[in-house]
Amino acid sequence: MADCLFCKISKKEIPSSVVYEDDNIFAFNDINPKAPTHILVIPKKHISSVADKEAAAVVSDLFAVMKKLAEEKGIDKTGYRIIVNHGRDSGQAVAHLHFHLLGGRPLKWPPG
Ligand code: AMP
Ligand code: ZN
Repeated sequence: MADCLFCKISKKEIPSSVVYEDDNIFAFNDINPKAPTHILVIPKKHISSVADKEAAAVVSDLFAVMKKLAEEKGIDKTGYRIIVNHGRDSGQAVAHLHFHLLGGRPLKWPPG
């Protein structure tokens, strides 16, 4: 999608702090981290949110990458949280499916 921020990031048209890449998936550090580890994991294909009919086909591969990244960061031992926002009330700011992988400190529950 021509003017989608995360499409541009996954094509490296906009720089990011890349932590993982394969043919279909891209992962990079959040620019405004909410925890010591805060990684965004996205499909390279433009899918607007988890509610898109195309999302189901990619989420299991995204989860496999998040598991691997959690192990690499050591937060599989201490715990982590995966968040996906959809729509206005969630505060979704970027309309390209992305999972937040957060860890490295105790995380408050419930979220606000
Ligand atoms: P959401 O509110 O779920 O749509 O999350 C969007 C996330 O993208 C926020 O946590 C932002 O900090 C993050 N973000 C926005 N622009 C960039 C960027 N250029 N590089 C990395 N992360 C970004
Ligand atoms: Zn996109």
